Amino acid sequence: MKLGDTQQLTPRHFINGRWEIGTTTGVSTNPSDTREVVAEYARADRNQTERAIRAAADALPHWSQSSPQRRADVLDLVGSELLARKDALGTLLAREEGKTLPEAVAEVARAGQIFKFFAGEALRIPGELMASVRQGVQVDVTREPVGVVGIIAPWNFPFAIPAWKIAPALAYGNTVVFKPAELVAACGWALAEIISRCGLPAGVFNLLMGSGREVGQTLVEHPLVNAISLTGSVDTGDRILKSATARRAKVQLEMGGKNPLVVLADADMDQAIDCALQGAYFSTGQRCTASSRLIVESRVHDAFVERLRQRLTALKVGHALERGTEMGPVADAGQLEQNLAHLEVARSEGAQHVWGGERLARATPGHYMAPALFLARPEHRIAREEIFGPVACVLRADDYEHALALANDTPYGLCAGICTTSLKHAMHFKRNAVVGMTMVNLPTAGVDFHVPFGGRKDSSHGPREQGRYAAEFYTTVKTGYMLA
Ligand code: NAD
Repeated sequence: MKLGDTQQLTPRHFINGRWEIGTTTGVSTNPSDTREVVAEYARADRNQTERAIRAAADALPHWSQSSPQRRADVLDLVGSELLARKDALGTLLAREEGKTLPEAVAEVARAGQIFKFFAGEALRIPGELMASVRQGVQVDVTREPVGVVGIIAPWNFPFAIPAWKIAPALAYGNTVVFKPAELVAACGWALAEIISRCGLPAGVFNLLMGSGREVGQTLVEHPLVNAISLTGSVDTGDRILKSATARRAKVQLEMGGKNPLVVLADADMDQAIDCALQGAYFSTGQRCTASSRLIVESRVHDAFVERLRQRLTALKVGHALERGTEMGPVADAGQLEQNLAHLEVARSEGAQHVWGGERLARATPGHYMAPALFLARPEHRIAREEIFGPVACVLRADDYEHALALANDTPYGLCAGICTTSLKHAMHFKRNAVVGMTMVNLPTAGVDFHVPFGGRKDSSHGPREQGRYAAEFYTTVKTGYMLA
């Protein structure tokens, strides 16, 4: 199956080294032009899901003992192909998810770099040799694969997020059953198709497309699945946590965010406006790291709002594949309705409308909306709930201390940014923001692939993802004692 610009794909499942049709099919469409079907994909039922899990379990003894060089070679090949085909795969991503073509190509390249990084990590699996407290005894601490890993991914980063879960899972010797989000089934399939050709034994990697309730839930509940890694909403995370921990499976959850960007009066205003614009609206605001709360010091509040409003009036919203588009459509009709409903609530609660938030018509029928900016108070729902769209609110802060308190006044704790020229405030903020990641004079969204990613409070559960810290989730530790 070849990827072309407007070709309709028919993705199938990959189970135990074979491609299989589904019991039913689903359809993904182009959010920039809803007349265009991107893929008619196979949907798995319980039986197929169970077979994929069993295949992964059967493949585990062999793969977990495979040489690190073999794993490194597989991952390196996957990474090389992603990098070599980033333009075609980026086009597919832009068509199916709706982010702009440059954003999509960059995401595929990032997925390629992640595979390359973990190819190296396969050769660097750490261990320790310790002195024992007992005479003549030697102690070693080694890492072993955790087992069969169920990987459940969201729709907003259909290459990068699966990459940062699948690559470490395979690098550390685990076997995988991967379920992409239905909205982006073709992207999940395209990644799986590459992995399927890079030298893995049958059963080590399996792809299943289908619903969270059927395929996802079966993965979560199945006794042969040793670990579950989910990126998704808090509701899904909560549900998964209950079922998976009830049977004592290992669980890693990356969930929502309501990330603050603090702008102090001493900030470089050009830089602060750029950070706000990129962090809040790029990728149509559909990033868990988006800056949805702009907390601005009183002295510069009005000037900041006016300058950001002006930039929003000029932001080019359009077809994801059109040259010059700065913000693509919302990913699907349901998400667009949800965004608009949130804005209705904001208005009804008294948040002050500054710009945007309306549906937009373009040359092609798509889920377009104007980027929205509101002035809010901390108790407004627009300032508390994740919307996951191109929507930001501005909160007024009296001074730095007030801004920090507002930044931490949220159930979420993924990331937090500050724009300031004060080293004192930057350092204090880095230490006192209750989050997993801080950014100084940078947008909250946009992170490196080789360092830990994750948050605190309702945003995350379990060990961090990415970088060397991924080993915490994808391995289990064994302590060995030997009389020397
Ligand atoms: P979602 O929770 O609806 O779905 C995520 C995945 O879980 C999908 O594959 C879905 O099919 C599956 N799923 C749904 N119900 C399930 C169940 N009961 N059992 C097992 N699997 C189930 O999320 P979404 O709409 O795809 O993505 C948007 C959400 O993801 C937002 O809340 C966003 O903040 C979050 N997100 C978080 C991060 C992060 O790293 N913190 C990154 C990206 C997105």
